[in-house]
Amino acid sequence: MTVDRKLLSTYRRIVIKIGSALLVDRSTGLKKAWLDAICDDIAALRSKGVEVLVVSSGAIALGRTVLSMPKGALKLEESQAAAAVGQIALARHWSESLSRHDIVAGQILLTLGDTEERRRYLNARATLQQLSKIGAIPIINENDTVATTEIRYGDNDRLAARVATMAGADLLVLLSDIDGLYTAPPHIDPAAHFLETIHEITPDIEAMAGGAASELSRGGMRTKIDAGKIATGAGCAMIIASGKMVNPLSAIENGARHSWFAPSSMPVTARKTWIAGQLQPAGAIHVDAGAEIALSAGKSLLPAGVRSVTGQFSRGDTIAVIGGEGREIARGLAGYDAEDARKIAGRKSAEIAEILGYAGRTAMIHRDDLVMTEPAHKRQGGRLKEDAAHA
Ligand code: GLU
Repeated sequence: MTVDRKLLSTYRRIVIKIGSALLVDRSTGLKKAWLDAICDDIAALRSKGVEVLVVSSGAIALGRTVLSMPKGALKLEESQAAAAVGQIALARHWSESLSRHDIVAGQILLTLGDTEERRRYLNARATLQQLSKIGAIPIINENDTVATTEIRYGDNDRLAARVATMAGADLLVLLSDIDGLYTAPPHIDPAAHFLETIHEITPDIEAMAGGAASELSRGGMRTKIDAGKIATGAGCAMIIASGKMVNPLSAIENGARHSWFAPSSMPVTARKTWIAGQLQPAGAIHVDAGAEIALSAGKSLLPAGVRSVTGQFSRGDTIAVIGGEGREIARGLAGYDAEDARKIAGRKSAEIAEILGYAGRTAMIHRDDLVMTEPAHKRQGGRLKEDAAHA
């Protein structure tokens, strides 16, 4: 099955990554007119029912402008200080500009560990989900004030790709000063030609990326292709487009040239592969027939369908799901520590807060963290009607 290019407004959830050079002018500071225009674009997409998340660079660039730091490379502590000053201003500008459309912004600052460690990943994802539920737009950046040289993304291209997979986005748009991928760097090689559609990121495509980056941004085509691998592998399409004009998203919608990377046609996410491939699940959850049917239908595992819990595990650990006759039917990431899971097993989601003393998550294993490990034709419940109790 191949997936085709389509209009931005037909995607469900889009992550837009904005490079520093688009937002910040090194002598005059934030480019307010440009920001207002892209916020108009974002509001237009939202009015068509598209959910938008923003990964905004520019903290360090803006901070060093505000602080009148000299040009050239910064020491680590200087860039941390610049980020601290720049981020607060950057977030305020986003918030003010979106508020012209009555849109509320929420700031999220991530470090590498927040996306790479399962438990912290689940936490960050829950925050994104909650913001989406209340209709606020997350404005995300790396937390450059505490990131160190060794422990950092360093570029927002890959960070944005992680955010896209974390949020279950179906499109990632990377806006920078180049309009897409060329067979060679176009400013060096006049024979370079533009690639409109990339169906698969092959070693040849990777070789085209080179390593160029501009003074303001840390990424280059290399990190954009890395981002493409993360995003498309998880079933999320990616666009590389120029953001140099005002209203760059409407420009894409109206046919401005850009490179489009097709999402992988095999929709099992890399994370699910990781979950299914865990050698030693930390514990197991035994479920009833109703839950088996619900899981086969792609639903989350709710406490109500749990018969018993075995083993010791913490939230975020991989656990096995055991169906009738002791068959392992699925694996997933635990939404609760084993102790709490035991307490709420068999109980209604509405009772969780009272039993545990805190308002936990509704799912014992969220469907995004669950992968069926038994082939569909062997599943007992697959042919039966869905049980409404597990909807
Ligand atoms: N996080 C950096 C900043 O906000 C930008 C990283 C990048 O250029 O990709 O300044």
